[in-house]
Amino acid sequence: MRFLLPLFIVISACAAEPDWNAINQETLKHYTNLVKIDTSGAPNFEAPAVAYLKSVLEAEGIPVQVFAQDPKRPNLVARIKGNGSKKAILIMAHTDVVGVQPDKWSHPPFSADLVDGFLYGRGTVDDKDNVTAGLMTMLLLKRQNVILDRDVIFLAEAGEEGTPSLGIQFMVENHWPEIEAEYCLAEGGGVYARGGKISRMLVGTTEKVPYTIRMVAHGTSGHGSRPLPDNAIARLSNAISRVASWQPPMRLNDTTRTYFERLATISTPEEAARYNGISNPARSEAIQSYFREKETMHWSMLRTSISPTMLQAGFRRNVIPSEAEATLDVRALPDEDMVAFVAQMKKIANEPGVEIIAPERSHRVAAKPSSITTEMFRVLESTQKKIYPGAITIPTMATGASDKVFLQAKGVNCYGFGPLLDEEDAEKGFAAHSDQERLREKELYRFTQFNWEAVRTIAAH
Ligand SMILES: [Zn+2]
Repeated sequence: MRFLLPLFIVISACAAEPDWNAINQETLKHYTNLVKIDTSGAPNFEAPAVAYLKSVLEAEGIPVQVFAQDPKRPNLVARIKGNGSKKAILIMAHTDVVGVQPDKWSHPPFSADLVDGFLYGRGTVDDKDNVTAGLMTMLLLKRQNVILDRDVIFLAEAGEEGTPSLGIQFMVENHWPEIEAEYCLAEGGGVYARGGKISRMLVGTTEKVPYTIRMVAHGTSGHGSRPLPDNAIARLSNAISRVASWQPPMRLNDTTRTYFERLATISTPEEAARYNGISNPARSEAIQSYFREKETMHWSMLRTSISPTMLQAGFRRNVIPSEAEATLDVRALPDEDMVAFVAQMKKIANEPGVEIIAPERSHRVAAKPSSITTEMFRVLESTQKKIYPGAITIPTMATGASDKVFLQAKGVNCYGFGPLLDEEDAEKGFAAHSDQERLREKELYRFTQFNWEAVRTIAAH
């Protein structure tokens, strides 16, 4: 076999494009195998998925390291070296999935059934699509012998769904040199089509910062038959009602400003007028009221938001309790001054005997939005034009939280993306975390091609 080697090198150096028919078959095999591995929790957690990825990468000659705080919750890192003239790029994806209620699924959750062009199963769009696309990009870079200006790192992380302390946080705090990069690509975006018509690729560049804030009312306790003017439950209700109906001030950042500007260009004239009128003093109030009613995500994207989510008060029907408590889910803009915001909340609540107790910092981290003027963002945009023609690229701020913020807090410019989904699918109950998850088979292939194209463009010499 030795005499074949030089010939192989000559061929691979000339091989500009992978053979996509063969690659698609391989992509389908890995994706199917990964979806079939139940990584939703006990007894095995992410370990079998990591073992699978490790064997595939090592068979290709790509070195792999595994880091774990808990051996059942491992994180895998693979690296293909570049010439070091540019700083690394990190492709990250999580191997864990959220739990399932199997009886609610018409295609069993770990079946990876392929029916009428769709692949079904837990994790098909969260996040085994990104795991598979990242894996394939690594295999292709190695196989095509691509000369790289920067290292390409692949991180398959554990615990994204609720235990980042074992996953991304563990990696950032204990193994930072293994994953340090200039850019990272992760989940948290995607391409959208409605009625089969492609419209936009959303790229996640930032997210809101969650705070759990407690509101505690105090009053005199007594017999329920003799109403008291300082009833703790009544005080709490007044305070909640004022705070929940308050509209905190609106503020745009680079991401959200660009988001609304670009969204307007693909919207109906009526919608476009709203998206373009947000900062117009004459129209802003009416537009925000419309969002509050009809486009709640957009209302939340404009401000730090407050949702009362839990109540705790009373223990007997004839006893006035001396204390009542509410939990508020507050989602702050990335640059919010929380001390000032909480002080403002107290003024708005304007109720005696009510305290607002805020943690000093979020249970997540806060980070500046990733820049939308970097080479990476431009590459994502140009790759989108090539792979998803007919769409436009729009940066976006998530109202929820994701793992890439831990890297953004270390100064990495991270971008969230994902495969093409039919907008109707979420309405039909096929979204991530729902009782059915699915991805179009051909969109798995297109997404893999997108991932490969974007990484090759930013990293190849
Ligand atoms: Zn996810």
